[in-house]
Amino acid sequence: MQTTDVLVIGAGIVGAACAHSLVQAGLSVRIIDARLGGATAAGMGHLVVMDDNPAELALSKSSLDLWHALAPQMDAGCAFTACGTLWLAANEEELLAAHAKRATLQAQGVACEMLDAVALARAEPALRRGLAGALKVNGDSVVYAPRAAQWLVAQAAAHGSVVFEQAEAAQIDGHTVTLRDGSQRSAGAIVLTSGIQAPQLCPGLPLRPKKGHLVITDRYPGTVHHQLVELGYITSAHHSDGTSVAFNVQPRPTGQLLIGSSREFDTTDPAVNNTVLARMLQRALTYLPGLADLNAIRTWTGFRAATPDSLPIIGPLPVHPHLWLAVGHEGLGVTTAPATAQLLAAQITGSTPPIDPMPYAAQRFDSWDVA
Ligand SMILES: Cc1cc2nc3c(=O)[nH]c(=O)nc-3n(C[C@H](O)[C@H](O)[C@H](O)COP(=O)(O)OP(=O)(O)OC[C@H]3O[C@@H](n4cnc5c(N)ncnc54)[C@H](O)[C@@H]3O)c2cc1C
Repeated sequence: MQTTDVLVIGAGIVGAACAHSLVQAGLSVRIIDARLGGATAAGMGHLVVMDDNPAELALSKSSLDLWHALAPQMDAGCAFTACGTLWLAANEEELLAAHAKRATLQAQGVACEMLDAVALARAEPALRRGLAGALKVNGDSVVYAPRAAQWLVAQAAAHGSVVFEQAEAAQIDGHTVTLRDGSQRSAGAIVLTSGIQAPQLCPGLPLRPKKGHLVITDRYPGTVHHQLVELGYITSAHHSDGTSVAFNVQPRPTGQLLIGSSREFDTTDPAVNNTVLARMLQRALTYLPGLADLNAIRTWTGFRAATPDSLPIIGPLPVHPHLWLAVGHEGLGVTTAPATAQLLAAQITGSTPPIDPMPYAAQRFDSWDVA
């Protein structure tokens, strides 16, 4: 007998957001999480509208709107801060790219503006002199993702029927999930949101780990005011198959600076790679020379779950009629969790999806071999 409408496997930011949206849609939810750690606890929490392609733009823009609607209710621990992003143009060529990005974003109603070299230096005096300018995206924000995930689950529990269970799912068979201890849980639908571990439960899922390093400093309030990202990040983040680094710095509400970013394929070793770390910090120093005088207090790594086209997989798995997927969010899953959840909940309940689901459908990967 099934007493739960939906069983969600994985309570990172995507699973938590799915539970929240499913409860809002009137469904009862059981959440199973093995507390294995995941990308949500390892990431940067930059909520950023990305426009590599129309599908990424649609998902990230609609998600930013949802984050802004949630923000007034969120507790202080979620550390939601609407600091905006400055996309830094180092030269005239990157300035042209910034103008093109502005046109694309403004066409979709995303508030943004160009800063010339003088305005940029005024906005962020710690940046090196000589940058050509920046695109400021006003609504981009940051959040402390692990706490936001807990908050979403708590909100879901406050407004509907939610059971949270710490357990590891070992197998999915139709409506039933077998746990590591051999016991079983059934539900009308199963939602798989177990991040990079998802292929263990759904063999053949086209996900590759993409390792990233982050460094956090001691507290230096007022050093940086916006999330700062070099425009070259777009190339290194999404179009590279090798190891890449890019300048990406976030001011935390504590006054700490969170420094990224790196991307490495074909490794599952969580150890800090000192060569990559050194490259990443050298890159950061070229933009923020004063970083050399700050204390770094912690360095860690995490794994993004990357699909071949860098878009997440959201929707039903055709060969398993009761299994729904929300996986493969790569480096944008904190940003896109609320819109992912809304889209998945609409598909499960048969209501009109808020955005076109096709670009995220599992069927786009016709070569994968699902057991
Ligand atoms: C270095 C780095 C920086 C990033 N920066 C950003 C950023 O600035 N902005 C942004 O939007 N995104 C960023 N990301 C990406 C973002 O963190 C991820 O896309 C997002 O957290 C994915 O969330 P998830 O819920 O899908 O997966 P996860 O957070 O990995 O959660 C998966 C959950 O499933 C559970 N689980 C796994 N297997 C099982 C099982 N068998 N049974 C039960 N439970 C299970 C785990 O315990 C875990 O809690 C970054 C990622 C990294 C690594």
